[in-house]
Amino acid sequence: MTADTPKVVSPASLDQANSFGVSAQAAAALQVSRRDHFYHLHELPEYRSGPVMMLGGGSNILFAGDYPGLVIFNRLAGRQVLDATDKHAYVRLQAGENWHESVLWTLQQGLAGLENLSLIPGAVGAAPIQNVGAYGVELADVLDQVEVWDRQRQDWRMLNNKACAFGYRDSIFKRDPERYFVVNITVKLRVKPKLNLRYHGLRDELNAMGLSNPTPLDVSRAVCTIRRRKLPDPARIGNAGSFFKNPVVSPEQAARIGADYPQMPCFGQADGAIKLSAAWLIEQCGWKGYRDGDAGVSERHALVLVNHGCASGASLWDLAQRIRSSIHERFDIRLQPEPVVILPAAKTDTP
Ligand SMILES: Cc1cc2nc3c(=O)[nH]c(=O)nc-3n(C[C@H](O)[C@H](O)[C@H](O)COP(=O)(O)OP(=O)(O)OC[C@H]3O[C@@H](n4cnc5c(N)ncnc54)[C@H](O)[C@@H]3O)c2cc1C
Repeated sequence: MTADTPKVVSPASLDQANSFGVSAQAAAALQVSRRDHFYHLHELPEYRSGPVMMLGGGSNILFAGDYPGLVIFNRLAGRQVLDATDKHAYVRLQAGENWHESVLWTLQQGLAGLENLSLIPGAVGAAPIQNVGAYGVELADVLDQVEVWDRQRQDWRMLNNKACAFGYRDSIFKRDPERYFVVNITVKLRVKPKLNLRYHGLRDELNAMGLSNPTPLDVSRAVCTIRRRKLPDPARIGNAGSFFKNPVVSPEQAARIGADYPQMPCFGQADGAIKLSAAWLIEQCGWKGYRDGDAGVSERHALVLVNHGCASGASLWDLAQRIRSSIHERFDIRLQPEPVVILPAAKTDTP
């Protein structure tokens, strides 16, 4: 080991490192804040022997148990406009930067494209993991490439948009979580904005603000206002945003359910499948605002599980399982969790 090898803390509390605010610990943890740190990771016995996970802001993870391996906090900093024409600019954002601050920074540079993704908590490096999306836009719409540390090859690699195999809250990184550490992303943004106002609530908000000809910054402000109104703030009440993905079902299954529930919201997909609203399904089963001790479902949004104070990760996961069972029983649909769930036996949940 050399003076450049990152320092390991063992064990390490994760209490402040997850937006659910549950108590958990990792067998060991360290921070990477320089590129050369990656070359030295293999010198560490904790890196070579056990499970390893990179973490950003901890806003898309539930620790239902302790993590038995090494947690690496990505703190790589930097934002840069690489190249610009009169139409587009390529912007590189390092993985440890705060996502929302980076969105605001691009808008301050006069560049549009990320405004609908304002106020999503967490770090830049996690954004490609589940292809963050909100208000009609996904990261995949603007992402040019992702630089990763490939753990298999022990080297840097550039993955273009196609190689990331993005899907709805999905990517190659989510499907193969052991392989890549995201180091930075490059997005292609517009000099001349082309706003995406397909989400009707966003239009309504802009109208309420008296803006008939909004700028990208106006859209960002409107998104922030809607999000503050709709979603509980993790700084006040622990949560990880939407806990379940919206299920995508066949047209036949949607029609079967729709026969009993004609008011059920349905969204047709390009491939003919139908996306249903997980929040609506959960609400139908009476879970909105439910509370069992300190584990509960938000009164504002049926998709958001909340920690009212001292809930354990295990009790939140137990509640999630009960919600899934009731949806399955009533609608024959198996909801999938959106955040990564660390189970007590240290298996990652991808049911
Ligand atoms: C109130 C609230 C609202 C939210 N709204 C949205 C929303 O609108 N849309 C949306 O898509 N998400 C939303 N989320 C979820 C979350 O904010 C995003 O998924 C975000 O990208 C997670 O960032 P993070 O840094 O906190 O990730 P973390 O929770 O730290 O990590 C999440 C996963 O990514 C992996 N990971 C993190 N960094 C790296 C890296 N550099 N390299 C490799 N793997 C990495 C981790 O191992 C883990 O598996 C919301 C969460 C909250 C609390």
